[in-house]
Formats: sequence, C-alpha cells, structure tokens
Amino acid sequence: MHEGDLLAKHLRLSKDHAQALERLSIRTIRELLYHFPARYEQAGGEAAVANIALGAEVSLVGVLEKLETKRSWKRKIPISEGYLRDQSGKVKLMWFNQPYIAKMYMDGTTVKATGKVTGSAGKLYIANPHLEKVSLDENGLFRSEQNFSKENGLAERSEEIRGPFRRENSAEGDLSVAHTFFAIYPETKGISSLWFRHAIEKVLTQSLLESVEDPIPPEILKKYNLPSLRSALVWIHAPEELKQTVAARKRFAFEEIFYIQLSRAKERALQAHEKSFSIEATLTEIAAFMESFPFKATGAQTKAIETILHDMRAGRPMSRLLEGDVGSGKTAVAATAAYATVRTKPQGSKVGTLQVAYMAPTEILAKQHFESFIKYFEEYPINIGLITGSGCYKFPSKVNREKATTISRSQLLKWVANGEIPIVIGTHALIEKAVQFKHLALVVIDEQHRFGTNQRKKLAQKKGEVNLPAGRQVPHLLSMTATPIPRTLALTVYGDLDLTLIDQMPVGRKPIITKIVKKEERANAYAEIRTQLEAGRQAYVICPRIDEPDPDKAFALMAKSVKEESKRLKKDVFPEYSIEILHSKMLPKDKDEVMAKFANHEIDILVATSVVEVGVNVPNATVIFIEGAERFGLSQLHQLRGRVVRSNHQAYCYVCPESKGEQTTARLKALVTAKNGFELAEQDLLQRGPGELAGGKQSGISDIGMEALKNLKLVEAARSEAQTIIKNDEQLQKHPLLSRELQARANTLHFE
Ligand code: ADP
Ligand code: MG
Repeated sequence: MHEGDLLAKHLRLSKDHAQALERLSIRTIRELLYHFPARYEQAGGEAAVANIALGAEVSLVGVLEKLETKRSWKRKIPISEGYLRDQSGKVKLMWFNQPYIAKMYMDGTTVKATGKVTGSAGKLYIANPHLEKVSLDENGLFRSEQNFSKENGLAERSEEIRGPFRRENSAEGDLSVAHTFFAIYPETKGISSLWFRHAIEKVLTQSLLESVEDPIPPEILKKYNLPSLRSALVWIHAPEELKQTVAARKRFAFEEIFYIQLSRAKERALQAHEKSFSIEATLTEIAAFMESFPFKATGAQTKAIETILHDMRAGRPMSRLLEGDVGSGKTAVAATAAYATVRTKPQGSKVGTLQVAYMAPTEILAKQHFESFIKYFEEYPINIGLITGSGCYKFPSKVNREKATTISRSQLLKWVANGEIPIVIGTHALIEKAVQFKHLALVVIDEQHRFGTNQRKKLAQKKGEVNLPAGRQVPHLLSMTATPIPRTLALTVYGDLDLTLIDQMPVGRKPIITKIVKKEERANAYAEIRTQLEAGRQAYVICPRIDEPDPDKAFALMAKSVKEESKRLKKDVFPEYSIEILHSKMLPKDKDEVMAKFANHEIDILVATSVVEVGVNVPNATVIFIEGAERFGLSQLHQLRGRVVRSNHQAYCYVCPESKGEQTTARLKALVTAKNGFELAEQDLLQRGPGELAGGKQSGISDIGMEALKNLKLVEAARSEAQTIIKNDEQLQKHPLLSRELQARANTLHFE
C-alpha cells in the first residue's frame, strides 16, 4: 500500500460511499489519512445509554441482553431485537430484516453498537446498529472483532487494532471504559464516522504505516516537541488518550503552516531572480499628478505611494499588498502607480508607453474605477479602456474628447495589443487569453480576496512583449484589499508579498455612529433614517437573501429578503421615497442602471444583498441598515458600513440581528467599540472561528491550519524555520522529502 494509491484499490467501496468520498475530495489513501476527526466521543462518557438523545448517531459500549428474533405484526418482516446495557442503564436495539443478527451474537457479549437513536421519548431504540465485538486479549488490549456488514464496504477482518480499544486494568464485562475514544468525523451525507474509523484503521494497520516517511526534519520536530508523522496519524485517528489528539493536532497545524511558509519562501527566492520594468517617472511629475487630486493626499497615502515607486524603480518585480480600511483612498494610490507606469517608455523604445491592467471583482466596481481614472487623468492625453463581460468602453471618444464611448471588443483588444491603450480596467474578463498587451508593466488587483487564486495568478502572469532586449520581464503586482486580516493570516497567506498599510483616513471624516437595533427599537431607527433622508441623504438596506425563502425551508432561512423587504418598506415605512433593489442575480445592465440612478440620487433607498459590500462609492449615501446582522462576519459588517463613510457627512450604521441571543449582541457590540478593521478581524478569528474569517475560505487553508492562525508563536516558528531552510537550500535539493511534499500539496499551496 502506498499513500498515493486510490482508495478503491484497497477498500471495497459501495456506490454511495464512493460518491460521498468524491464530494469530500477524498480519492487516495493520503487524502483519507488527512481527513481528520472533528471531535472524539468517549464511550461511557457522553455516549452513555442514559444520555442518548433522539436523532443522534451514537456509539455505545455495553453488554448484549435478551437477543431474539421476532416477526413484525404489521409488516411481516423479521426483526432482531435485544438490549444493550452499560453502567448507566439499558437501551433497546432493533434490526429490521436482519434475523441472523440475533443468532450471530450471544447474550453477555461486550460490543460497541453504533447507530441512530430512533423512536419517541421514553421509547427510544437504536435502529439497525452496527455491532463490533470488543474483548480483552492477554495484553490487556481490546480486540475488535468486527463483522462488517456489507454496507461497510470493507473486507471482513478480525485483527488486533491497538489504540482506540485500549483499556487499562479492566476485566471483561467491566464497563468502566473511560479510556475508549471514538473519532467522530465531520458529518457528511452517505458516509458515517464508523465507516471512516474502520477504513482508517484498516489503512493504518497495513504495512503503510511503516513506510511513512516524515518530511519534516527531526531537529525541527524535536525543537518544538512535535510527534512524528507516523505517531501523529495514529494519534489523531485512534487516540488512546485525548492528550495524544492534542499533540497530533499541534503537529498537523504546524506542518500545514510550515509547508505554506516553505512554498512562499521558495517563491520569494525565485522572484528575487526575476526582472521587471524599471519605472522612471520623476518626482516632479508625480507631485504634479498628485496636485491635481481634488483633495490633499493623507500621510499614509503619500507614504504608500513612495514605497510603491521605490519598488518599481528597482528593476525587480514588485509584489505588494496594499491594505487599507474602506474609504482610506486606495484608488488614488493605484492611480498614481498607474500614472508613473504610463509615463515610462518601454526600454530601448522612443515611442509608446508601458501598460497597466487594473482588475476589479465586479462590473459595478470596474466601471466606477474607469470613471475615477477618467477624472484622475483628465489633464493627460491618455487612453483608458474598460473591458467587462457586458461591453467595452474607451476614453476619450474621438468625437467628444470629454466623454467615453462604447467600442467593440475586437477593436479594444487590438488597441491594447498594439499599446495604444495604456490603461485597461476590467473585471475578470481581463484574464482571458484574447487580452494581450504590448508592454504590460503593472497589474493592479482591487479587492484581491474576491478573486480566486488562479484568476489572480493568471493576470499577474500576463507578459509584456516577449522579445524585449532585457529578456522576459514580469509585471509589477499591486494587490489591494480593504479586508483587514489578522497578522498571522497575513504572514501565512501573503508570505510572499510585501505589506503596506494605509492606517489613516482622509481628514474631516467623522467616525461612523453604529447602533445595534433591538426588535422594539426598529421604529425608532426608521425615524432616524427618515431624518437623514429629509436632509437629502440616501440609505442602504442590506438583507441576507434575494428571494423569500422556500416555504419548506422557512424555518432554517427566516432571513429577510431583498424583494420582500423592499416591498414592505415602500408600503409600510417609507412610502414617500423612491426605493429600488440590487442583487447579484440581476442582469449586469440592470445593476448598472440601478447603481447609476442611485449615484444620481434618483433613488433614495437601495435595498440590496451584500453585493454593495465591495468598494461601491456613493458619497451622499450616509445610512446603512443591516438586517440579519448575525449572519455576517464582523469584518464583513465593517466593510458594509464602509459604504457610507465616503464623505464628510455624519454616517450611521444600524445593525439589526434576527435573534436576540446574548452572544450575538456581545459579538455585534465589537462593531460599536472597535477602532479599526484589524481589531475586528482578530475578533472574527477568535469568536466566530477561523472558517468564517474573511479571506480564509478562499485561502485553501484547512480547519486545522486555520486554528493554528490563532497562535502567533506557532506561525512565527513555522515561518522562521521555513525561511532558514530556503536560505540555505533555495531549490530544496538537500531536502528531497520536503520538495516532494510541496509538490503533493501544490494544489492547495498556490492560492496567492
Ligand atoms: P478605498 O480605499 O475603499 O478603495 P476609495 O479609493 O474608493 O477608497 O476612496 C474613497 C473616497 O475618498 C473617494 O471618494 C475618494 O475620492 C476620497 N478620497 C481618497 N483620498 C482622499 C483624501 N486624501 N482626502 C479626501 N478624500 C479622499
Ligand atoms: Mg476601493
């Protein structure tokens, strides 16, 4: 058996199991071993007979009693039944249509029964439980002598399994099984924890375990007191004590962060050898460009611009992440970098300029950037193009030098390819192969966390002209995000990027007033919103859903919907104001139309889903009311309210949770008190769990790795070890196992 083998080679898989495994992307032995338990159950502990609850899947260890076969009165099918008794009591077991069960087991046998608690209160039974015989051998180890039923899909076996069945100083029939832990795997339709336990035990007891080599150098394991890969695999799936699971999880957490760091450090080392365009705009030119802004740049903006220009002058590709709270003015920074780029002539060429590609996650945003750029570049004779899925534009129009015009896609692509359009803004449509540049020197990715890994990579890999005298040149990369991410995540996911923070807001901005709206305060909040509307301001109302919930699922999804809420507001609350809706299922042209109307103040209240989260800029909108607020992460709520801090008017944010749990309120209170988005991101990480972390889901980090991000020390240790290794062995030639491991993980490692 080899870890790369397909599961089907060693396990008999039923169709249902095969499908369930496919959904979990578990195809190989390795993937199976890296499918970790979500938790552990202790037989005799939480899984005591006395504690079972209707509907739960339980594993109980006890002694069989009163086994017999009957025939059901109504359905005329054979039924085996009996009882399982442990220290806490007994529970009925029933098998339908399996008359042989009662004959296979004897009363008094100690077994582990796993199945679903069925029936009704007071008359609970376990339906069709799987039984595993557990008995002691001469070494005091439990032997498991399962008779796998056919659905298990595993070959029958009865070999000794160490680990989960160990029981110390106890005699047969003694039910003090406090040391028995069962791994419970994340719930998935069609496949049970029991199946995983069996499959993994089978794999771990085969010769495979002996052949597992640990890629992590032993010195590192020793230094941080981490178990070897072999022990960690056994301990995480089949622990004898919970202590072992903790040690194993620590190892896998370290390992994941370490491999990511290693791959980042390797990429960085590679980048250091690449060449890029040297951007040569003079400081006077830059100063003049910034003078033309309708505002004075903040200190943080100026500093960011200086850093970026410094990077771009060096002739090596810049890889920089610009992180700044919503409304901190990142667009102006990007525009200045773009300006410096288009002021620079291609090396060895007297005509033409270097080019800029600026990618935004939505059409609305791309369009808005296009319009901002037209203003920023008003006084310069520079062509700007816009490419989106629904159409292309060019500025200026031939007929009217002040206006943009629609042009055909093919015409636009021609002008981009021959360099006549130096600045191209667009959605992911920019990534398409057909979009070719002549001298692409700067790639700007706005709201970068909104893009998939591959999308970002593809754009960053677009080349300028291949036959440049200087050889292949890689464009500079400026990634921007308003998503404040915790330091550990930044160090890990963006380990190969340099980080610049814009930690200052434009002067004159008043801090937003945030209020948590309880049910009885809703009318009050509406009255305050009305005051704002009367003063000429506009408002957003954010709902978690687009449509009314499907009536069958009404309970699970009581969240307000854009469509219904907009009708209700018009009818009952704000009849005198114009209200429209915006959501992701609308046609792009309808979305644009609504956004344009909102920007022109033809709409007073925009009822929307979180599509408005990303960068939308309507300065006159100063109020945002968020329904179902607990459904959003704190960082996301922070971004949403950022939509209304776009001017010097006082802005208001109302967050209205559906439920009134104390936890919800406590969590939302952080919004009122937090000084900035970074603080909220840290809180998201600690409170909501890493899975919910903005930027986390997209990053491809597993749950266990995300857990590790709560631990700055661990992340720093993994980072410094990885850097040391790469410093001495850039290509990992002296570390073949590590090199192979990175390859095996290539799909999950390359997310940035
Ligand atoms: P974000 O960082 O969220 O992308 P934007 O670049 O969209 O923010 O800027 C938000 C608003 O602030 C825009 O209307 C922009 O013109 C304005 N702005 C940017 N920088 C400044 C500044 N230094 N002073 C005043 N207003 C500014
Ligand atoms: Mg922005």
